[in-house]
Formats: sequence, structure tokens, C-alpha cells
Amino acid sequence: MVLRLTGIRKHYKGAAAVEHVDLTVGRGEFFTLLGPSGSGKTTTLRLIAGFERPDAGIIELDGVDVARTPPFDRNINTVFQDYALFPHMSVADNVAYGLKAKGVRGDACRARVAEALRTVQMTAFGERLPAQLSGGQRQRVGLARAIVNRPGLLLLDEPLGALDLKLRHDMQLELKHIQKEVGITFLYVTHDQEEALSMSSRIAIFNKGRIEQIGTPREIYDRPVSAFVAGFVGTSSLVRRDSSVLVLRPEKVRVAPPGTAMPAGFHVEPGRLEDEIYLGMMTKLVIRLADGTAIEALRPNDGDPADLVSGSPVAVGWDPSTLRVLDETR
Ligand code: ADP
Ligand code: MG
Repeated sequence: MVLRLTGIRKHYKGAAAVEHVDLTVGRGEFFTLLGPSGSGKTTTLRLIAGFERPDAGIIELDGVDVARTPPFDRNINTVFQDYALFPHMSVADNVAYGLKAKGVRGDACRARVAEALRTVQMTAFGERLPAQLSGGQRQRVGLARAIVNRPGLLLLDEPLGALDLKLRHDMQLELKHIQKEVGITFLYVTHDQEEALSMSSRIAIFNKGRIEQIGTPREIYDRPVSAFVAGFVGTSSLVRRDSSVLVLRPEKVRVAPPGTAMPAGFHVEPGRLEDEIYLGMMTKLVIRLADGTAIEALRPNDGDPADLVSGSPVAVGWDPSTLRVLDETR
């Protein structure tokens, strides 16, 4: 175990930013804090880094309580969204800065800097100034500077948030590869559920300062414990039946003209096709059931005949074994 938080609480002016947070991160994990803006993710990172003190609770790094350890003595580094590079220093000097502060000099320092720049594919840019780099390149330098000291734990707070969508997707894959290569434990913060699902070994879902669920991406997506998690991670339709709530994922819902045979064991009900939204790879269908419940379905655009007409009756079906049933009291 690299990091253990037990009963962490932090209030600002009487309002809870973080409450009852418990989590454990193992060595080599890519662990993500996922939640909407204001849910307490950054506060949690700042407490771990030592920039803030918790009102209650214990923070352990490698089994040692760090309540009295100042930030610079914790075996941790942080990557921020705004890179925080020194503008008057070359890329190589920016990366070397933390090493020199720890007394690493000469050939040893140059070798470590070269290795870090190679890891982030910035070998050719060592002599440039930060102003001569693109946003994506600056983020790579920020990462090189954070890994060059080989911290036991790297904290990353929405590091890709300032990049455009295409570059962000490329960097997600690359970050994951870099993390594997250097073997450093990552604690990653994002509000982007797709990013969290694609990169993480495990995810903690934050809501209003509390953790609602911790699990692998597949556990979180397939077995959400609450309506909040089901709605925040992926899309889902909630169907209320008696005292329970069913979570239906759109890719698990079949829609067909009335009377079409559905696979054996499927639950089938009548509905009306309200909307068809073309998304390129997929088409999203919105179906209204007789009791007023709206259900979303996704169909791949793989050359299907256009057999459905907006406004017309349809049959909706799903395999009951793929349903998640929530206890409505949560
Ligand atoms: P996130 O990173 O998930 O967006 P934060 O941890 O930044 O959320 O914030 C959690 C809550 O704590 C928010 O309501 C925010 O307004 C509040 N908060 C964070 N930092 C401070 C601060 N320094 N002073 C007062 N309130 C703060
Ligand atoms: Mg934040």
C-alpha cells in the first residue's frame, strides 16, 4: 500500500469540502478520483500533498502517518493543469530543477534529465524555452519534471483539461503507457468519466465531498451502487418498478418494430419512438414507455435498414440479467 486515507474531513468556513473519505491506493496503481466540479477532488489531493491540513483523519504514505511531514519531505510530486514551468529556463533546466534541489549534479543529473525527456518524447526540445512549445509539449515537460525525481506517488490534477479533444485522447493513451513504463503510482483527478474509464486501474466516485463508490472501471460501469454513479458514469435510463430502480445502459436496450422476435429470455414492452439522434458511429433512440418513463437506446450505424419511424410504436427489450437493481433508499 502506497497511500491510505482514513476518515478524512476538511471544512472551509463551516462548509464541508471533504467528509468521511477512506481510500487505499496500492503500489503501481493508476487510481482516479472522478466527480463533478466542487465535489472535493482537488481538496483531497492538496491534503495528500500537504498543502492543507485535514480537520480530522489520518493520511499514511508507505505506512507512515505524515501529519507532521511538510510537503517537500513527502515522497510525492504534483502535476497541475497549468504546467507551472519556469518561463526563463530551458526545458532541460526546468526538468533538472528538482534534481539539483536534491543535490543531484553533473553527469548523473544530465543522464536523469535525458531519460525523463526521452520518456515523454521531448528529447529534441531540451534547449527550448517554455514559450516556444505548444500546450501539449509544455504538459509533457511538466510530466518529465514530475517523474525525474522518481516520487513514490504522483498526483495529477486534471492535467489534460486545457488540451483540445484530439490531443487529449492521444495524451490519455500516452500517459497510461508512461505510467506503466516508469512504474510510479498515479493518483489522477478528472471530471471526465470517459477519461477515467479508459485510463484507471480503479476509480473513486466523488459526490459532494464524499466517496460514493470505489471499484475497477468495469465494476463502476456494470454495478453502480447509486443513481448518482449510474448517471455520472456513462449514460443510463432509470426505470422505477415497485420499490426498486432499474439501471438500463443504452447499449443493452434493443428496439424493433412491434411484433419483431426478441432473443429468448428478453423482457419486452411496448413504447413509442420519440427521437432519433444521429451521432456518426451510433444513433441514439429515445423511447417513451406507456407509464411515461423515457429510455435511451444506442444502435451502431452498421448498415441497418431504417426500419423505425419517429413517432411510431416500437417494441423495447432487454436481458433482465444485465440490469442493475438499485435500492431506492440510497
Ligand atoms: P473539485 O476539485 O472536485 O472541483 P474542490 O476540492 O476544489 O472540488 O472544492 C470542494 C469544495 O470546497 C467546493 O465547494 C469549493 O468551493 C470548496 N473550497 C475548496 N477550496 C476552498 C478554499 N480554499 N476556501 C473555501 N472553500 C474552498
Ligand atoms: Mg479541482
